[in-house]
Amino acid sequence: MHDFTSYIGIIGGGISGLTLGCTLRKNGIKSIIFEKENDIHDEGAGISISPNGLIAFEHLDLKNELLNNSYKSPKAILKYNKTPLLEMESPVYTMNRKNLINLLYERYINLGGEILFDHKLKDIKLKNKELIFTNSKNFRVDHIVASDGIKSLIREKIFSQGSKPVYSGYSAWRGFIKSENPNVEISFSKKKHLVSYPIDNNSTRSFTGVTRSKNQLTESWKEKGIIENFLNDFKEIDDDLLSKSRSANEIFKWGIFIRPPLKSIIEKNITLIGDSAHPMVPFLGQGACIAIEDAYTFGLLCHELNCKFENIQKIYQQLRLKRNNKIQQMSLIQGKINHLKNPFLVFLRNQLLRKTNIASNRLKTIHNYNVHKETVKYFMF
Ligand SMILES: Cc1cc2nc3c(=O)[nH]c(=O)nc-3n(C[C@H](O)[C@H](O)[C@H](O)COP(=O)(O)OP(=O)(O)OC[C@H]3O[C@@H](n4cnc5c(N)ncnc54)[C@H](O)[C@@H]3O)c2cc1C
Repeated sequence: MHDFTSYIGIIGGGISGLTLGCTLRKNGIKSIIFEKENDIHDEGAGISISPNGLIAFEHLDLKNELLNNSYKSPKAILKYNKTPLLEMESPVYTMNRKNLINLLYERYINLGGEILFDHKLKDIKLKNKELIFTNSKNFRVDHIVASDGIKSLIREKIFSQGSKPVYSGYSAWRGFIKSENPNVEISFSKKKHLVSYPIDNNSTRSFTGVTRSKNQLTESWKEKGIIENFLNDFKEIDDDLLSKSRSANEIFKWGIFIRPPLKSIIEKNITLIGDSAHPMVPFLGQGACIAIEDAYTFGLLCHELNCKFENIQKIYQQLRLKRNNKIQQMSLIQGKINHLKNPFLVFLRNQLLRKTNIASNRLKTIHNYNVHKETVKYFMF
């Protein structure tokens, strides 16, 4: 059996696990990723990467590849019932998640990274840092990093003390259409909103619509939905998108769940990164960007502190917990703002969007974070 006792064991080869793998390998630190699936695969959905997420890619020499595989819209347009409220410069790069995962994976492998597919974590023996998989294999590692996503087994077993996810009251739709519209569009209507943007130069446009719904759906963004039901839910929002979505190949529908913020994202021998550390509702499009920040911070700390994990964990927690929990909270509030139904509050929101810089200022507090600078600050004094 392979000896991984001098490796950092990463559970999950998604966005944060692969970003951490790249950061560690770039700094010559041994890492092994254990992934439950049998290959690097992603169903494919649109994803937006904001400037805070881009910083790590710059330091991992992946920024140009990301820019070449993504789309930069000239404008982001906010509308209410088809009437424009606000136009601003779009701050994000938008792409297919599949391409994001692939470029991280290729970089990780080129840097000499190792990954074991078909390894689904079943249990952990914390004391001797042992990982137990459903395929009956066991490995010991030097430190365990949980990057096993929104339904993290490790968070559930060790960190969240049995608290269960609660249905948010929102259900979401997503799909792709063909459209020449170059802009990001965010359209509000009573109790619903629809976001859409191009993800490549071939006119592929991703859309995600969210409505309030008493029906609690499964929490799986791979569940198929029925196009007619989508058209019915969003009929008053965007004629062009709706008419084009009639010819969409497939559409997906799922329920959005809330998990409370954690008080700690470190525990003896284990560190949480990404959705396992801060599962958030998707209304600020920040889940992946914050996951990338976590991974880069932890990887850089491993390098700077020579893999002294106790110190690394303390600083990691100081750097990440407050920011992660704040953005988790802001995402929930954004959900409320997006789905207002009271006519006075709708009027107030729309006036604020029209007449003030509140939207871009709010985003800037998230987007202006420089994960590299904030991490190296610790070593300057
Ligand atoms: C439809 C949708 C749109 C989104 N849009 C955006 C956006 O525009 N911008 C943004 O920043 N974020 C967005 N997000 C959020 C973003 O996708 C997540 O926050 C991000 O993927 C989190 O990365 P992660 O590495 O923590 O988890 P993931 O990328 O989900 O990776 C988890 C990995 O762990 C593996 N795994 C799970 N359990 C085990 C186990 N027991 N053993 C081994 N492996 C395991 C999984 O197979 C997977 O590969 C969106 C999410 C959705 C659903």
